[in-house]
Amino acid sequence: MNSYLEHNFLGNDTLKQTLSGVLSVGRLFHAVLLEGESGCGKKTLARIIAAGALCQSNSDKPCGECPSCKKAFSLTHPDILFYGSQSNRSFHIDTVREIRSAAYVAPNESEKKVIILGDVHNMTIQAQNALLKIFEEPPEHVIFILTCDNITKLLPTITSRAVIYRVKNLPVLVCADELVKRFGVTDDEAKMYAKLFDGNLGECIKVFSDEEYRDIIWRCISFVKNTGKNEYAMLSHTSYFGEKQPQIISSLKILKIVFADLFSAVTGGDNPCCADLANETDRFSSLQITEIIDIIDVTRDMLLQNVNSSLAMCSMCAEIQSVMMK
Ligand SMILES: [Zn+2]
Repeated sequence: MNSYLEHNFLGNDTLKQTLSGVLSVGRLFHAVLLEGESGCGKKTLARIIAAGALCQSNSDKPCGECPSCKKAFSLTHPDILFYGSQSNRSFHIDTVREIRSAAYVAPNESEKKVIILGDVHNMTIQAQNALLKIFEEPPEHVIFILTCDNITKLLPTITSRAVIYRVKNLPVLVCADELVKRFGVTDDEAKMYAKLFDGNLGECIKVFSDEEYRDIIWRCISFVKNTGKNEYAMLSHTSYFGEKQPQIISSLKILKIVFADLFSAVTGGDNPCCADLANETDRFSSLQITEIIDIIDVTRDMLLQNVNSSLAMCSMCAEIQSVMMK
């Protein structure tokens, strides 16, 4: 296996073997699509693949040492371009037009030019159609690397023109070890978050590097503890979920993860990852938790349709309370 990939990208051994083989003989397909949930490392891997595609070494690509690799990993390579949507915003047709013009310009110093398109699941259908035009007849010198959380959100005409590689979360213990190494936290704390986020290193890193994110997790846990007891407390926690739609949606995602943790504990008989919820398991039936998770999903859809966020939160809390009365 390529040693740079082996040491700089955790887990995903089979995928790393495949990519090492493809990169070492310079046989990367002109369109690569990396699929995996947000936080699993797709963008990091996209940058490593881009470096491998332009690496000047004879075999072990990326070598991490040649001038091209050095530029690639310091994000200053003129032939690696990155486009992506920011925080759930749509990826518009204007950006794709810019990408199309950039693709037709010959590479600056390498034989190829790599264009990384992050989070293409946020692309509007018009933007995907515009991208399709260049996918059908790509310039010889271009390699596209796309990342997305779910390929079903893309037009089949796009996905059928790319090689799809699936990036997985890490095994829980590997993820926990990495958290201990990076943040010096205790084993127990690292394991709790690694388990809660199912080995998603990106999400766990956010927990230890972003205080607001940690606060939201704590509020979600407290929301669960108050469910069926104190609707006012539930509602007041949601008022910290954020002011803008993307922040509220990402907080709802955490709320869902915390309820899913409780669900595994209720159905599996183990303690929840969140130790604070250990005394709550008897109050919930698995059916109630399933219904609550459905309510959270419906609320997320309402927010995506721009329903007023305070109204959406009030209605979510009221509906969850009524499930608890059953
Ligand atoms: Zn190199």
